[in-house]
Amino acid sequence: MTSILEVKNLSKSFRGRRDWPWSPKSVALEPTSFTLAAGETLAIMGETGSGKSTLAKLVAGVDNPTSGDIYLNGQKLYDANTKQRCQNIRMIFQDSEKSLNSQRTIGQQLEEPLIFNTRQTAQERQNTVKQTLRKVGLLAEHYEFYPHMLSTGQKQRVAIARAISLEPQIIVADEALVALDPSVRAQIINLMLDLQQDMGISYIFVTHSPQIVKHIADKILILYRGKMITFEKTEHLLNKPQQPYVEQLLHEHL
Ligand code: ADP
Repeated sequence: MTSILEVKNLSKSFRGRRDWPWSPKSVALEPTSFTLAAGETLAIMGETGSGKSTLAKLVAGVDNPTSGDIYLNGQKLYDANTKQRCQNIRMIFQDSEKSLNSQRTIGQQLEEPLIFNTRQTAQERQNTVKQTLRKVGLLAEHYEFYPHMLSTGQKQRVAIARAISLEPQIIVADEALVALDPSVRAQIINLMLDLQQDMGISYIFVTHSPQIVKHIADKILILYRGKMITFEKTEHLLNKPQQPYVEQLLHEHL
């Protein structure tokens, strides 16, 4: 499969951290490289503090790398001069509650990316948003709702709606399923898999859950103290003897 995303030697150091004993330089992520094909799902795993969120944010352009490059469809992203974020890679976070504005309707919030990135008229934007709401299993009526009128699962659907509204190629999800109870989590996973089928989206999931990884990930990237120690197809990794650290991550039940 041809890769749409190529991450080459991406690294991140933070200055002035004293609470990270194993690294005087505060290297949150050592040079890390991986690839992702269209429609593929990558899981990023590792113990707390191993650099998962750092890597996810760098790939999504939420944070700038100390070194390294990201290529999407062969084109280099995040030129340090332009600092332009790529609409083709969107990120969703753990706390959909925090990422929504309590003072604005769902419709207003979902229209924002369209206002900045398309030339649609107000009526066209409203139609697009209502279609997107239906795509994520919500109703056109939710357009008028405020976030507090929705359940946690519905809010996570809104976060997904916002992420897909500009039809990105890649969605980066940082522990996006962790706050959901198991039945809602299963519904959201099914929704994301359906969207992957329909829209050809590739996913990068930061997760602690071996069950989720085994269910959805084509590839697994494992970090240990800021260093990538494994990047492999899920089936290969699961079918071979594993180091104790990897074994623990893949079999821990949280
Ligand atoms: P994980 O997602 O695996 O829990 P993170 O990527 O959040 O790990 O963090 C990796 C390391 O980088 C941690 O030691 C953390 O303290 C450090 N770090 C993360 N963000 C910052 C920051 N903004 N400033 C300084 N250090 C940071």
